[in-house]
Amino acid sequence: MSIRPRADVELLPGYHSPQLDVAVRLNTNESPEPPPGAWRAAVAAAVDEIDWNRYPDREATALRSAIAALHGVAPGQVFAANGSNEVLQTLLLAYGGTGRTVAVWEPTYALHSHIARVVGTSVAEGERAVDFSVDLGEVRRVLDEATPSVSFLCSPNNPTGMVDDEETVREVLALTAARDCLLVVDEAYGQFAPWSAVALVDDDSPLVVSRTFSKTWSMAAARLGYLIGPSFVVDQLAKVVLPYHLDALKQIAGLVALDDVDEMNHRVARLVEERGRLCARLADLPVEVWPSGANFVLFRPRSADGDRVWQALVDRSVLVRNCSSWPRLEGCLRVTIGTPGEDDAFLAALTEILT
Ligand code: PMP
Repeated sequence: MSIRPRADVELLPGYHSPQLDVAVRLNTNESPEPPPGAWRAAVAAAVDEIDWNRYPDREATALRSAIAALHGVAPGQVFAANGSNEVLQTLLLAYGGTGRTVAVWEPTYALHSHIARVVGTSVAEGERAVDFSVDLGEVRRVLDEATPSVSFLCSPNNPTGMVDDEETVREVLALTAARDCLLVVDEAYGQFAPWSAVALVDDDSPLVVSRTFSKTWSMAAARLGYLIGPSFVVDQLAKVVLPYHLDALKQIAGLVALDDVDEMNHRVARLVEERGRLCARLADLPVEVWPSGANFVLFRPRSADGDRVWQALVDRSVLVRNCSSWPRLEGCLRVTIGTPGEDDAFLAALTEILT
């Protein structure tokens, strides 16, 4: 058969994250808690109210207004899609593409460069400093050499957990804006961080901030994410996204979730506390641990091979993310903060393997 995909797609390795059937799943940074009962009841009731024979509100007016109110911005500064990955894809359809370049700062979330390549964009990979912080000299160098149309930041960064401070983001924004480059700050874990770049968004700055309902809102199954950005960007995204891309039930599910921000904040507080407990326990084991401002922790067994430890955890029915073959993360694993019971199961398995 000579039916071939695009040559660059044929060469792409694809995105791999195994979904194994194990007792303790701490590999994809989901919330360990289901959404509140009232949310489930309201979404179930909405199923009966929807005009299923009609297309949904294409503008997602009510949902975007509620997200705008949450962040103190205008509804025209909000774009929502099926998970923040689709938000990023839509951004790159409009601002990346053939003949354009995206800048990423490694190590970081692999989907940034993957989605860029899928939509035909070249990727310029800059390096973070030894401690995984953003290196402004390197940012300047890559921006000048590669002249990207889009640059990503990720704060807290996946998989390192590091939060970029406000000064750093402001400086990167000044560098990108001066070169007509759109800065995208991925805040999928933003609720865990002490500050948000949403405060820097306005209609005159080439800055967008993406967020998701998949993590702290306990709605990974719903696939809903959004960005806050200047309206001149949001207007362009509406042109490239498919018509009626957000189904009616999802729009309601998001709207109902936003009715209970307090509950979400309590979840964040519980996870932050549990993260402290997990890190304190990890400190007693022969592993190197990176400080995290997210709902996961990156660690490296000191004297054992990362692949072997990952497999030994799977053998004990505990699944974490194996980052050990990723550039600059040799031997590293990433564990999501779960319930205390799940975290204890992980710690017991890891202790057995390493001691
Ligand atoms: N950004 C980052 C940094 C992530 O870790 C993830 C999920 N792994 C996403 C975006 C995508 O999340 P979703 O598509 O579920 O909103």
